[in-house]
Amino acid sequence: MTLHDIAASLPNAAGAIALVSSEQCAETSAPKAAGIHGRVLLVDDEPVTRQIISRRLHDDRFDVVTAENGRQALSALSEYDIDLVLMDISMPVMDGFTTLRLMRQMYDRSVLPIIMMTSAKGNEQVLRCFDNGANDYISKPVDFSVMKARIESQFVLRDTQFALRESEQRYALASQGTRDGIWDWNIVTGATYLSPRWLEMVGASETHALGTGLSWLDLVFHEDRARVKSDLESHLCGESEHFETELRMPNQDGGFRWMLCRGLAIRDEDGIATRIAGSLTDITEGKVADALTRLPNRTLFHDRVARCVELYKRNSARKFAVLYMDVDDFKLINDSLGHGVGDQFLIKFSERLESSLRQCDAVIARLGGDEFGVLLENVRNVDEALTVAHRLQEKIRIPFMVADRELLSRASIGVVAVSPECSSVDEIIRRADTAMYNAKKFSESHISVFDNRMLAESSTRFELNAEMKQAIRRDELSLNYQPIIDATSMKTAGFEALVRWHHPIHGNVPPAQFIPIAESNGLIVEIGDWVLCQACQQAARWNAMSDSEMMISVNVSVRQLNVPGFADRVAEVVAQTGIKPRQLKLEVTESMLMQKPDEMIGLLSQLQEMGVTTSIDDFGTGYSSLAYLHQMPLNVLKIDRSFIVDLAESRKHQAIVRSIIALARSLELEVIAEGIETQSQAAYLQGLQCDYFQGFRFSRPVTPNQASMLVDKQWPGS
Ligand code: C2E
Ligand code: MG
Ligand code: MG
Repeated sequence: MTLHDIAASLPNAAGAIALVSSEQCAETSAPKAAGIHGRVLLVDDEPVTRQIISRRLHDDRFDVVTAENGRQALSALSEYDIDLVLMDISMPVMDGFTTLRLMRQMYDRSVLPIIMMTSAKGNEQVLRCFDNGANDYISKPVDFSVMKARIESQFVLRDTQFALRESEQRYALASQGTRDGIWDWNIVTGATYLSPRWLEMVGASETHALGTGLSWLDLVFHEDRARVKSDLESHLCGESEHFETELRMPNQDGGFRWMLCRGLAIRDEDGIATRIAGSLTDITEGKVADALTRLPNRTLFHDRVARCVELYKRNSARKFAVLYMDVDDFKLINDSLGHGVGDQFLIKFSERLESSLRQCDAVIARLGGDEFGVLLENVRNVDEALTVAHRLQEKIRIPFMVADRELLSRASIGVVAVSPECSSVDEIIRRADTAMYNAKKFSESHISVFDNRMLAESSTRFELNAEMKQAIRRDELSLNYQPIIDATSMKTAGFEALVRWHHPIHGNVPPAQFIPIAESNGLIVEIGDWVLCQACQQAARWNAMSDSEMMISVNVSVRQLNVPGFADRVAEVVAQTGIKPRQLKLEVTESMLMQKPDEMIGLLSQLQEMGVTTSIDDFGTGYSSLAYLHQMPLNVLKIDRSFIVDLAESRKHQAIVRSIIALARSLELEVIAEGIETQSQAAYLQGLQCDYFQGFRFSRPVTPNQASMLVDKQWPGS
């Protein structure tokens, strides 16, 4: 059976139209160009991953052919002259393991090296890769320097096997050609072979007395040495499948090079290791560069700031400043449009920063997630740094085209300039970060210059995070209830439960401050469950005192929705408290629904079957996909407060509110307008046949006892 036969015998894959996707380079079908190391078949279903890796391989002078799944890969293999396959495991149509097995039926390991991209290191997946015939693996997210080294090693090994047949000399030449160093320790005789490249990488001369046992370990940075030894020992005594460890090799200028050291023992029939051989890969680039944007990462940024600090200490005229930036609402892009679009946005964003700062002496780094740092090496004072920050804001305001969409973005920026009282790297970066947090409190795209008063605030944030766990146990949380009024009868229709935290020192902490912290540390799941129980119990009390059935709206966070069995838990609470399922209304935001729309449709349907209703909160502030919204089994749409606040004056907001109500009607949803503060806002909304009102015009959120007084209240007409 040929590969063509295998490919042809497979069912036609839906969506797999192109054999070789658009990222392939133009010359793939042509003979390999001069100076090209080899042709790699890259198989991955994620378009962004394919794009990034192809680009990188291209830069490293490899030809690239890409395929979206195993089936396409098999066809590509029969059509192109492929030297190596780099393949993902989980893919639609045909996964990596099946494809690997089929490829191995045709080609031996020594003829076609296959490197698998695994999602987790050292686990079952890795073993399955080797069992199914992989030559090697790399972990995802891919570290490009490791990827390059592994691919080159495979090429060299293949060439070496060929060369070995010819002569030992050829082997030596081949191993010189690899970027990896090779080491080989005969445990029985004690002899150690270190390839010339190995010696070159660690800066050792050939005359260096490293040729016995493990004396090369003396070259490893002293802090890493014990760990390397223990990793090696655990492999030698059979506790680990592979020896793989990262280590630092000091270099002459006082810095380090990061190395990945790998090895595999050969054992006698009793399982005793007699020899171990492996490779040494320089992974410094991956350690200091961000894999997605290729900007310097936090480690390198830290080093560059440290260098500026040193220069400043020697000469106080050498001033510098640091900007700490955070993309406003990046989470929204990621949650609503998916991580692929989020990644592409970050790449575009970093390119924009680079082009905007081309004229300055600046180091731009990705510090993590959607945070970026800019080191301005030659600014004399804060004002100059501020000018740069404003310029950046302007450039960022220009819309970004990502995946055929126009995305508007803003960034909050914290600014700090070096000063005599703040001259440690950590302190400078911390201050810039603190100033950025301060900027976030204001409108979008705010710039804050660090001020000592901000330090108190950042320690509050830190404390709140640490103390949140006890807040429930110490009974510091409570619920307030804000009435929701039926716009036709002007009677109370129900309440929205809003959580409050009475902190023993900080007093009342607003939910806008602690809910995001709870979401990031995961405690929102526990808090949300507590809120659900309390709110349903309260509704049961109202049921006992009045014939009017109050609806109770409870806000839920995306992390709660993602907990398996969430719908069952809701059913349990409803049953325990004895309220009618239709009384409970769960409020979710647009971005939560759009994050995993298909799963959300399932979950919402489950809730709807139970009789529990759902409403979409803060509508108009996210990126909803109408196509999905249409399929979501929702009941209510809540117009965000930001559109109501200036309803009387803003024609634009009037138009938005009118279209939201029209949209709701066409989707057969009821409408709640929240944040109504004035009589004229209520009157305007009544004119548009809005179903429910909520806002300070009627009542602020109040305690349970105060809320009980509002249960049967007839409100004055608007
Ligand atoms: P939300 O769900 O949109 O709740 C409405 C917020 O708007 C409440 O703020 C409410 O006090 C405020 N509000 C209502 N009417 C007016 C008005 O006329 N004018 C003004 N200026 N504000 C008005 P609050 O209680 O500070 O809650 C803020 C947000 O915190 C909530 O927004 C919700 O997203 C979140 N939150 C509150 N409780 C919970 C909870 O139990 N779980 C979760 N996950 N989030 C919660
Ligand atoms: Mg709400
Ligand atoms: Mg809201």
